[in-house]
Amino acid sequence: MQFSSLDQLKERLRLDRLPHLWCPGCGNGIITQAFLRAVISLDIDPDRLVIVSGIGCSSRVVEYLDFDTVHTAHGRAIPLATGIKLARPSLKAVVLAGDGDIAAIGGNHFIHAARRNIDITVIIFNNFNYGMTGGQYSPLTPQNEKAATAMKGHVEPPFDIHDLARGAGATYIARSTTWHALNLPALIAGGMEHEGFSVIEVIAGCHVNYGKRNQRETAVKMLQWQKEHFLPLDRFKVLNTREKKGRLPIGLLYSESRPEFTAHYRRVYRMGRQET
Ligand code: SF4
Repeated sequence: MQFSSLDQLKERLRLDRLPHLWCPGCGNGIITQAFLRAVISLDIDPDRLVIVSGIGCSSRVVEYLDFDTVHTAHGRAIPLATGIKLARPSLKAVVLAGDGDIAAIGGNHFIHAARRNIDITVIIFNNFNYGMTGGQYSPLTPQNEKAATAMKGHVEPPFDIHDLARGAGATYIARSTTWHALNLPALIAGGMEHEGFSVIEVIAGCHVNYGKRNQRETAVKMLQWQKEHFLPLDRFKVLNTREKKGRLPIGLLYSESRPEFTAHYRRVYRMGRQET
């Protein structure tokens, strides 16, 4: 993928909304940049792209992106994007939201959008906690890690969002981290090109509210931890069971082709039920 210039990135930002509200060193900026690089590489007509977000630190991203954007209620980004996509199937709909937004209050919307295989790309900023409200645990907080609401260690097992998405029917599933930033634009672009429900989980560092409780209190320690615990799928596959413990693969983890919901829906209702 060709590298985008700073000027190209600036053209897609609402510069008058800067400075952003994110803490210095937060991973959200890295994901935002990767997303913009993906959009630029795909040469998408800006009038054909709609970006929806929910509530939380990462969801503030839509304030800074110079496209048609919607900053909606907590957990409701996917249903809103579903409505947009059904009404105007030619638009490219992307949801940018956090782990709490997607996997907790928005969890039902996530699995049903995956089941339908609607052509929406969901980029999950997974910082393992609710950063904006002080660091409460989310459904993706690893077991035994600490959070504002789990001061002695989190007792619940987390969802593996990859397994959840795949079980529910998503047809493109990728994972990366903010340390592996150079690979991220291509994974996001792949999801946006895919016809169907695509999920890109990005492990993001929230050193301010999550890291400080888990011996990763600086942005550098956060990135170092990502570097040590995530590795490309081909390298992960050849590890033995002991070496795999505590590590996860990154890259394109799953992809399949299945009829896309919007196209099927419109075909059925234009042609009449008797023809299905
Ligand atoms: Fe980022 Fe955490 Fe700060 Fe929120 S609280 S902006 S997620 S570092």
